[in-house]
Amino acid sequence: MSAVTGRDAARPQSPPARPQSPPARSWTVLELLRWTQGHFASRGIETARLDAECLLAAALGCDRLRLYLDFDKPVEASERGRFRELVRRRADERVPVALLTGRREFWSLPFEVTPDVLVPRPETETLVDWLLGRVPDREAELRILDLGTGSGAIAVALASELPKARVTATDASPAALAVAERNALANGVADRVAFLAGDAFAPVAGQRFDLVASNPPYVALRDEERLPPELRHEPRAALFAGPDGTDLLRRLAAEVGEHLVPGGLAAFEVGEEQASRVADWLRAAGLRDVGVVRDAGARPRVVAGRAEPRDRQTGGGPDGGTS
Ligand code: GLN
Repeated sequence: MSAVTGRDAARPQSPPARPQSPPARSWTVLELLRWTQGHFASRGIETARLDAECLLAAALGCDRLRLYLDFDKPVEASERGRFRELVRRRADERVPVALLTGRREFWSLPFEVTPDVLVPRPETETLVDWLLGRVPDREAELRILDLGTGSGAIAVALASELPKARVTATDASPAALAVAERNALANGVADRVAFLAGDAFAPVAGQRFDLVASNPPYVALRDEERLPPELRHEPRAALFAGPDGTDLLRRLAAEVGEHLVPGGLAAFEVGEEQASRVADWLRAAGLRDVGVVRDAGARPRVVAGRAEPRDRQTGGGPDGGTS
């Protein structure tokens, strides 16, 4: 190819190799982010900028902070190709960012996520935070049960905060348990977390715990049509539980008392319109101090209660200790 610059418009010339295209014009990090943010926003994605940053960082193999240091850096064609595919799957197929990158932070810990597990969500941090606030001695040798552990988010977060605790994490899905196990390993708590496959309390028949936590499926099947398209990429068994979403919560509330030591605590994540019913079921099952915990947006998202203490003296009253 000749070295003709093509700048001299007055001079007739043979057609340049690439009319109009600026020589070696390339996209910088900032330009790609701006374009993608606009594209995502036009498709109704609410976290357009954040998603663009997460996906570009993934395509470049760096973290998000690095993008800010490299705003003016050109992005190579091969990296742009990787990014373009991620952007397409986010915008057109509505795959959640965490499933495109295979990662999600929960409780400031890194988690691997795959299509076999529910993507950990901030409302579940409300549950972890509330439970930790109820543990008087973090060095205690607590026995903890995480029912339906999915990615292992609750089990791993609690094990990492409570260094002497032993956690049993169950899930009906062996594929989910494999992911949870890798997350326990990656976060250095695998020696204190046992993984058991099975439905509801079946894997822990006859066992009692100091803390029982669960983020069970609680989405109402009758809402399915109205749900964000992203949920289609997550396991149905981790999301849906009957027409109004409470099939499993109702069972867990009825049975949890048999798996708590005297004074032991149970906490369940729920849909906000389910909270008062779940609280009623826990009271009906004989739990004390039943109350509702609100998330950062003041929505009731966790329902908790305590097993009858051994000495039967402590009252506490309804909703004691919760807000
Ligand atoms: N919090 C999730 C949602 O509303 C549902 C999680 C669940 O069913 N456990 O999308």
